[in-house]
Amino acid sequence: MISPRRKGLLLVYTGAGKGKTTAALGTALRALGHGWNVCMVQFIKGTWRYGEIKGAAAFGERFELHRMGAGFYKIQDDDLPEEVHREAAAAAMELLVGTLQGGKHDLVIADELNVALETGLVSPEDVKRVLAARPSNIHLIITGRGAPEFLIEQADLVTEMREVKHPYQQGIKAQPGIDF
Ligand code: ATP
Ligand code: MG
Repeated sequence: MISPRRKGLLLVYTGAGKGKTTAALGTALRALGHGWNVCMVQFIKGTWRYGEIKGAAAFGERFELHRMGAGFYKIQDDDLPEEVHREAAAAAMELLVGTLQGGKHDLVIADELNVALETGLVSPEDVKRVLAARPSNIHLIITGRGAPEFLIEQADLVTEMREVKHPYQQGIKAQPGIDF
């Protein structure tokens, strides 16, 4: 039973540097150590074999991770119809709102929600619906570059990752265990 007295926080990890999803996963690990239940809903992300999926499975039912995206949207090798991305984002939205209202999870993570908003897959009203659905004793983390001003205003914590150096600049490709 989640204490009704707990002060739930709204945390935002944004910016163009690497580490937003990683920071959310680190917080999840910490929360799991307290015996909490965690749920991460991933927007956009699709077919890559992300290490966090198997990693989360090691915690059994206490760490739910739902990869709800259809894959990269309008970049890389995206050749899916627009409608497929929209339906995936709408399904992710419903799952997220349902999870926040479900009462099972202490910490809920909306991974890449900012990117879904920035690219128009979800609307500002959708994001506001998520914020309104959060009970006051549940922690919510929203990640993704391009956090909108209204979200920054409402958040209790906002960290902007700033790129100083990235292996990509040397032509080094994404590495398993580090990038996915
Ligand atoms: P991570 O999931 O590694 O914490 P992130 O959530 O901060 O990264 P995203 O915008 O979600 O960043 O990008 C995900 C992927 O893009 C990761 O593989 C990450 O290494 C890579 N990436 C992130 N920032 C940069 C950057 N500044 N230049 C090149 N690649 C990047
Ligand atoms: Mg990310």
